[in-house]
Amino acid sequence: MRLSHSPLTMTIRLASCSWHARRAAVLPALAVAVWLGVSTAIGGESNVHRSANFVVKASSRPTAQKIAQAAEEYRLQFATDWLNQEVPEWESPCHITVDERATGGEGWFSYETSRGSAPNLQIVVQGRLDRIVEYVLPHEVAHAMLCTALAGPLPRWADEGVALLSESESQRVRQQKTFAQLASAGSVMPLSDILQVVDYPAERRELIGYYAACYSLTEYLVAHGGRQRMLQFVADGDRHGWEDSVRRHYGLDLAGLETAWRSSNHGNGRMEVASLPDVAVPKVSPAE
Ligand SMILES: [Zn+2]
Repeated sequence: MRLSHSPLTMTIRLASCSWHARRAAVLPALAVAVWLGVSTAIGGESNVHRSANFVVKASSRPTAQKIAQAAEEYRLQFATDWLNQEVPEWESPCHITVDERATGGEGWFSYETSRGSAPNLQIVVQGRLDRIVEYVLPHEVAHAMLCTALAGPLPRWADEGVALLSESESQRVRQQKTFAQLASAGSVMPLSDILQVVDYPAERRELIGYYAACYSLTEYLVAHGGRQRMLQFVADGDRHGWEDSVRRHYGLDLAGLETAWRSSNHGNGRMEVASLPDVAVPKVSPAE
């Protein structure tokens, strides 16, 4: 969900990473409820840990410390992998609320920006602690890094695709298998629709398919031209149109990209990167 209150003064971007679209629709109320609930339960600062870029509230200080340390490591890894540069400490730390539960693993990222002030970054993670650390946290940290490093949110498909690609290997394999099943059933969303989606699909099945398609498309583009070319393709596509951008960065039209992408999947979850036209890589400057 993305709400623009004013093009110049404030943008609120809410990125739900739950598989449940219904939860995405009620994110503002849920996020506030979880935040207040945890704050009330801890009754002070004894379960809070502050690191260079994160303030974490959890059920205990050791847990908060563990999450903060992991978040710092994921932040550093993302900067190395995707931005190819060190990223200065955030002016205002990202607040993480940890809601430990016996089952599940999901999270949400949101931020508010206003001209002249540092963005207010918020992450809520809930579920089993091992799952939070393994794949929920890197996903949400990726969202936070994208929105702060690239001067604004990416289009939805790319934002989710990059975040999903930042998860653990087991989760990436799960996305590959889901996409392979969809491809076998002829149920993959058309590329033109993927590129245009702003709101998450409301129906759970469609949402799972959408996530898998975002993942697969991002994986394909990264496998073919690398992470920085993919980010530049997205920045240019968002600004100047996808047809122009795909021709510039991959030497294809959209139909050609869709054919190449779909034919790279072989029903077993494994991707084979076909040979595409060799296109000179333009200067990478996603934040311009
Ligand atoms: Zn997400």
